[in-house]
Amino acid sequence: MEDLKKYIREIPDWPKPGISFKDITPLLKSRYAFNRAVDLMAHPFLEKEVDKVVCIEARGFILGAAVAYKLGAGIVPVRKKGKLPYRSIRASYQLEYGFDELELHEDAIMPGERILIVDDVLATGGTAAAVIELVRKSGGAIIGCSFLIELENLKGREKLSSVEVLSLMSY
Ligand code: AMP
Repeated sequence: MEDLKKYIREIPDWPKPGISFKDITPLLKSRYAFNRAVDLMAHPFLEKEVDKVVCIEARGFILGAAVAYKLGAGIVPVRKKGKLPYRSIRASYQLEYGFDELELHEDAIMPGERILIVDDVLATGGTAAAVIELVRKSGGAIIGCSFLIELENLKGREKLSSVEVLSLMSY
């Protein structure tokens, strides 16, 4: 996927020293790269009868909504604690220092529904693992996780070993 990598801007030491931030806005603004990336993220799941795409705040909303449209699926947001308006279930995940929490509306997913999880970057995998926990608590059947970018040295995939993981670009 060298072709699409041209559209990822790496920002060294942002938001803090030692982090190489993967800025996807050049990809999003390109009609070629955005459409190609969404097509490729959705493609393996076209025949999988996905009911809902669970999108992770915030950049996951952009890609997840487009993938859901492509799959003819609905969209469910997972958000940081305190942002969702209705009764929610919660899972905590590890940050570099301490923990944070993610939430999902308690009526977002019905038992047995077929779920695809979408985000922009798979880093340590802590975020996606918490989302998997929320989907499973709701009784959803996880069909897979689709990421635009995977940071391989952080070994996030190991935390998601129970589900199919797809990423378009590796660093
Ligand atoms: P993690 O839980 O460590 O897998 O982190 C994943 C979440 O953090 C995703 O929602 C990403 O948007 C964001 N993230 C982590 N590392 C980066 C990075 N280097 N560049 C851009 N986003 C990142």
